Amino acid sequence: MIDFEQANDGIRIQLQIGTESREIFTRYLIAADGMSSKIRKKLHPDGFLQKTPKGAMNYYCTGEGDLDPNGLYMVNIKEYAPIMFAWIYKKDDLWVIGTGAEYDLKGYADRFYDDVGEKYNFKGEIARKEGFASPLKGGVYLGEDNILLCGDAAGLLDAYRGVAMDNAALSARFAVQAILDAEKTGTKAISYYVQKMGPMKRQMVVNEKSVRLSLLRMKCIIWHKSASDSDPCRPPNLEQVGQRFRTMSATY
Ligand SMILES: Cc1cc2nc3c(=O)[nH]c(=O)nc-3n(C[C@H](O)[C@H](O)[C@H](O)COP(=O)(O)OP(=O)(O)OC[C@H]3O[C@@H](n4cnc5c(N)ncnc54)[C@H](O)[C@@H]3O)c2cc1C
Repeated sequence: MIDFEQANDGIRIQLQIGTESREIFTRYLIAADGMSSKIRKKLHPDGFLQKTPKGAMNYYCTGEGDLDPNGLYMVNIKEYAPIMFAWIYKKDDLWVIGTGAEYDLKGYADRFYDDVGEKYNFKGEIARKEGFASPLKGGVYLGEDNILLCGDAAGLLDAYRGVAMDNAALSARFAVQAILDAEKTGTKAISYYVQKMGPMKRQMVVNEKSVRLSLLRMKCIIWHKSASDSDPCRPPNLEQVGQRFRTMSATY
């Protein structure tokens, strides 16, 4: 989709299919075009950040260690992952070792990578680093009239759980149901959609507050340590952490 414009009785959409340009007309539009959604940009231009400090970082690594290649390791320790959890898994031939943070992302990622090396006797090389960040601001935006945003375009990433695929799938289902309801009554689809999305949106607000609280606690810990330790931001290594290093390993 290249562009769209609202007309009285529907939406005109410009498409580019290969080298061919085409214009189509529709009564409803579901925006499932991800975090950089053109549709969100046009309807809600204030819903984007110029620059975002928070994000996730993956280190793609060659090498081996005492790690289960069929496992997904989720490390729930704030020193490695202040906003959700840090992770290790093997994809194709590379180990993916990553975490998310709102600030000093590289510091957290390096610390986690180093300590995974110690804990799991991991010997390898970082083949590639990749960062991901959400450009969205202002929380959830569901659209207007008969244009409904779902998934990442609507801002449905749950920062507390660190996942969004379930919200994306569920919101797309609600969008279709809202359109079917609108067809029956002639009311704009957005009013049904907002209603159906209410519980998910409320849960996201609750989860966002939990993230804020845990970030606040994390900042206090660093501040407190900096008064006494020679290396203030250095967490205890994984052996010292002992039982606190909780991993979940699932075979898939
Ligand atoms: C590194 C990383 C790890 C993740 N891990 C997890 C995880 O473990 N669990 C989880 O639940 N979620 C995870 N997520 C989030 C999850 O991938 C997304 O929330 C989910 O894919 C959102 O689905 P979506 O359909 O809204 O958007 P997307 O999956 O981004 O799909 C949008 C689609 O729209 C297309 N598109 C964009 N613009 C246009 C246009 N103008 N015209 C036509 N097509 C267009 C894009 O090409 C794309 O195919 C992760 C995300 C990242 C970046």
